[in-house]
Amino acid sequence: MSNSRIIFILAFIVIIGGGFILFPKATHHGEHASDTVSVVTTLFPLYDMAREIGGDYANATLLLPPGMSPHSYEPTPSDMLAIADADIFVYTGPFMEPWVEDILAGMDTGSMIIVDASAHADIHTEEEHADEADDHDHETGDPHIWLSPHNARIIAHDIGAALVQSLSQYTSDIENARDTYVATLDTIFEAYDTGLAQCETRTLVYGGHYAFGYIAEAFDLEYIAAQGYSPNAEPSAQDLATLSDIIERESATAIFTSELESPIIAETLARETGVNVLLLNPAGNIGKDAHDAGITFIDILKSNLTALHEGLRCE
Ligand SMILES: [Zn+2]
Repeated sequence: MSNSRIIFILAFIVIIGGGFILFPKATHHGEHASDTVSVVTTLFPLYDMAREIGGDYANATLLLPPGMSPHSYEPTPSDMLAIADADIFVYTGPFMEPWVEDILAGMDTGSMIIVDASAHADIHTEEEHADEADDHDHETGDPHIWLSPHNARIIAHDIGAALVQSLSQYTSDIENARDTYVATLDTIFEAYDTGLAQCETRTLVYGGHYAFGYIAEAFDLEYIAAQGYSPNAEPSAQDLATLSDIIERESATAIFTSELESPIIAETLARETGVNVLLLNPAGNIGKDAHDAGITFIDILKSNLTALHEGLRCE
């Protein structure tokens, strides 16, 4: 273990203990014209956009290990080393990664380009979307910003801008890749518009946390989730009874859940009401099999559309 690594880990311990010392300056690749840049990202959509738009010029890293919920993630000492050594660091925003501000404040970020993906995004606040199944505090924003078509385009542009800033000699290649990526997003969201235009129910009942509010708003669905913005809340018996009533009132034939979420709520309600369980993916992270299969954010958007089309009984 090198001395600088030991100092980093000591710094981590001091920060976690409530103290504050500066991280030593990391070696930066971005100070000289270089053919590649390192892009460290927190969540899957950011990682996927960085690798798609950066292509061969970006060495993209995803900090979240496969299968871990973005909501339970905290950076490890080696993650902090990776951030300190990044040319570009991309995170979702203060609602998803409240730890970022403190970590960056304790680091000599030097020439690092820092992208807060929520900086130009439209963010739903809790008050706007409080629903009957949601009884927790009303102070946070919905962090699942990448599921909004509008925000997804903005994030792709912001990641593209950081790459161009870092790799100005490849501006036209990067801008072309960004335009291709945004056009792909446009195509898939047009497919949502068409595919979800005529459905027997527009109520999306989800047995997990409030992750699909942006999709619901964009495509005129009503979204009912068993939990709040973070999957840690335990719904009460009353919450479950309310969900059960909604399923019956709306003649729903499906309840949705996701791979990285406990299926217990969805399975319990499905048993009680006789509906099917279908999988949606909030896309903040992917499981190990999906990771090994090289699945992309666009793939996830497509499979979510297929599930919604089936579960809402659309034409
Ligand atoms: Zn989430």
